[in-house]
Amino acid sequence: MPTTSNCIFCKIGSGEQKAKILHETDEVIAFLDINPLTNGHTVVIPKSHYERFSDLPSQKLAELFQVTQNLNGSIQGALGAQGSNIGLNDGKQAGQVIPHTHVHIIPRYKGDSGGSLHSVVNMETEENLDLIVQKIKTQLG
Ligand code: AMP
Ligand code: ZN
Repeated sequence: MPTTSNCIFCKIGSGEQKAKILHETDEVIAFLDINPLTNGHTVVIPKSHYERFSDLPSQKLAELFQVTQNLNGSIQGALGAQGSNIGLNDGKQAGQVIPHTHVHIIPRYKGDSGGSLHSVVNMETEENLDLIVQKIKTQLG
């Protein structure tokens, strides 16, 4: 399993670094975030080291999201959360601090005063939507 020796999430995946582990499969491990935004804030990672979301092979991607989906329901049920924000910071510009791709499950509670994903950023956009569609489709090939 490819790991990077100085990566804290690789160390959690291999058991070298302690964490509050919630669930583990051959390829994926989920644990409580050490600096939680809400009760039950959870991080789900592939045990292998992939820096960016797009680096993940499809089978591991499927397992990562399967575990995320299962845990999300369990966390909400166990802790009395009414919802969750689920997402990942892909790249430094998006706020990724640990360069080992990971999914955040942030349970949400009545009266927690938080916003939605729409509150992450709101830049003034310049290009028309048709041009954006055209650019992305060209990149897709
Ligand atoms: P990100 O900005 O998406 O890279 O977020 C990294 C997350 O990992 C942050 O929410 C940290 O609180 C969390 N984190 C960092 N180190 C640990 C650790 N040793 N155990 C659990 N969570 C951690
Ligand atoms: Zn790693």
